[in-house]
Amino acid sequence: MTAPTRALQFARDLAEPDWSLSVPVPAKRSIAKLLAAVDATLALHKEDAIYECDDNGFPQTEDESKFVRNICGTCSDSSVTENLDDGNYDISGEYGEVGWPCPTVEAINKALEAEQ
Ligand SMILES: [Zn+2]
Repeated sequence: MTAPTRALQFARDLAEPDWSLSVPVPAKRSIAKLLAAVDATLALHKEDAIYECDDNGFPQTEDESKFVRNICGTCSDSSVTENLDDGNYDISGEYGEVGWPCPTVEAINKALEAEQ
């Protein structure tokens, strides 16, 4: 389990109504709201895997040797995702493309990894 995953799981445990009686209810509610904010942000910023396409324009997702890179579809310019959807993606990379993890996910992970 990574440090960010461990930190989130610990917070989820603390927010459980029945788990820790030593955590006051208002604190549990605040923790739950913070978790919801983090979860909503992470749900928006997902990695999109890019694979080379076959001659018919279908991504070869079953062949790991055809994997190109991961990008964040949310942070990348809409022209990048449109080119991916249209099969016009330049495999050497596109202007406006944001790699994975994107700055938003890196910032969340860095905060969750930090020693307090
Ligand atoms: Zn992103």
